[in-house]
Amino acid sequence: MASPLSFDLLLQSSHDPSDAVTRALAGALAHAAAGVIPAPTLGLDGTRFQTLLARHFPALDGQICAAHCEGCRPLRSDEFADLVALLLAHRAHAGEEAEWLAHAIASACMGGNHLYHDMGLPNRQALSELLSRHFTRLFEKNVGNMKWKKFFYKQLCDQAEVRVCQAPSCQVCNDYQACFGPEDDTFPASLAALAGRAPVPQ
Ligand code: SF4
Repeated sequence: MASPLSFDLLLQSSHDPSDAVTRALAGALAHAAAGVIPAPTLGLDGTRFQTLLARHFPALDGQICAAHCEGCRPLRSDEFADLVALLLAHRAHAGEEAEWLAHAIASACMGGNHLYHDMGLPNRQALSELLSRHFTRLFEKNVGNMKWKKFFYKQLCDQAEVRVCQAPSCQVCNDYQACFGPEDDTFPASLAALAGRAPVPQ
């Protein structure tokens, strides 16, 4: 059965379907609702989740929101909390929007695809622009243009002074391509419909 919180419905319910933050939240929410990422309410408690929906998707049927939110709890995971904290420590502005985005990004990090895929964004550039605008200092730290999800986890490992990398430096590491190589721009067919975009022809 199709999830009631689909990407199309969310955009139709929004003030401005072209707004980059609205589209990022809609993509993450649609994937969360469909179970692509394991965080139905993006790790927000019911009240904060309802506020997000009311602010960005005001025309959404309240019954759908209530049904989706029923019994929801904040995501209990050290990893998730650490990712949210990392993002918020580098937020470019105060307010709930950065918090919602941080939760959406951290939730999408729990998915199994490229981060921008799991956020329903069209490409890595769209994710980079979002991070540049809303988490500017974190964006600027990624001077080597590392893949974003790997970069976030590397930051957490460095903060905790945990050494998981096998090589003394990235330049001599056998995993360099995995961390810095180009990302496949093909949007997975299984996610394309959920994020309201046509699959790229093979
Ligand atoms: S390239 Fe190697 S050393 Fe650098 S972050 Fe990746 S795994 Fe670690």
